[in-house]
Amino acid sequence: MNAETRTSGEEEDMRIVPEAEIAGLMSEDAAFDAVETVFAAMSRGEARNFPVVREDIGYAGALYGFKSGFDRANGVLGLKSGGYWPENAEKGLTNHQSTVVLFDPDTGQPQALVGGNHLTALRTAAASAVSIKHLSRPDARVLGMVGAGHQSAFQMRAAVRQRDFDRVVGWNMHPEMLPRLAQTAEELGLPFEAVDLDDLGAQADVIVTITSSFSALVQGSQVRPGTHVACMGTDTKGKQELDPAILEYARVFTDEVAQAVSIGECQHAVGAGRISESAITAIGDVITGNRPGRMSADDVTVFDGTGVGLQDLAVAARAVALAVSRGAAREVEV
Ligand code: NAD
Repeated sequence: MNAETRTSGEEEDMRIVPEAEIAGLMSEDAAFDAVETVFAAMSRGEARNFPVVREDIGYAGALYGFKSGFDRANGVLGLKSGGYWPENAEKGLTNHQSTVVLFDPDTGQPQALVGGNHLTALRTAAASAVSIKHLSRPDARVLGMVGAGHQSAFQMRAAVRQRDFDRVVGWNMHPEMLPRLAQTAEELGLPFEAVDLDDLGAQADVIVTITSSFSALVQGSQVRPGTHVACMGTDTKGKQELDPAILEYARVFTDEVAQAVSIGECQHAVGAGRISESAITAIGDVITGNRPGRMSADDVTVFDGTGVGLQDLAVAARAVALAVSRGAAREVEV
């Protein structure tokens, strides 16, 4: 119900969509559509992210914070709260924990409480998939995966929906984790081969990096002309996955330029004066047609996916809508 149809004084119930229900509600396609839509709204100046809060709480080793924003075009206001609890694994819980709260933008009343863990993986993979749709060569056939952790399976599942990939090559610093990539590729009906990074660059048309690395893994000499690189692991100061030389010769795109230069992969190339901030294009501008994406078959394109709060709110709002349409949302009086 929106402000126009609501009778004065009438309150909407608040919806709860718990973590356990998200996987059954949200598909890769729903996440893709939500993220592509909000990136376009950001480009039109209709949606903006607010400053991120991230604090060491000095308890349980936890890092805790908020990402928030407002999407006026789609009527979505809220925040994702959560962080990293290193001792959770011993308790059988996920170390990364997050919850989204949505508010009625007309009244400020709480609208929904949504489990955010599975959604975070879906929205991160959706951002990378949006970049593959808009920036990679249409004839891309080989997907290269760098990283084999929790996110990697989501990344692979989302990527293969955008191009007609016929095989996957993969590398990980910790080879014992590679079976996750092999298993995901098998589920998708694609052959998988573990390779070194030289071989990966020589074969891949699209490279997705999704690691916790703090130094460059993929070197400039390893990326062929025409390759699209979705660099998704670097979301904090100090993290790094790519040789900054790649950003010098590539056409560089991101979710949000301010975040790319502060905590994304661009922090290194911009910090060292190797590229200027003005050389970085928001992917939303490509989606809306305001700025060109790939301009030639030989361009190397890089998407620096830093992860913005509006992505979280967009997928959470979609999950609530799906829960309501299926009668699966729990409702409590505000
Ligand atoms: P995970 O802990 O499950 O896996 C970590 C991966 O990084 C593994 O492949 C591991 O082998 C590799 N790795 C760890 N240390 C490394 C090092 N020093 N050098 C090279 N590789 C190393 O983590 P995950 O949940 O798969 O997340 C992967 C990364 O993605 C993390 O850095 C996380 O913060 C980031 N992330 C980014 C976004 C975003 O929006 N951009 C969203 C979620 C997660």
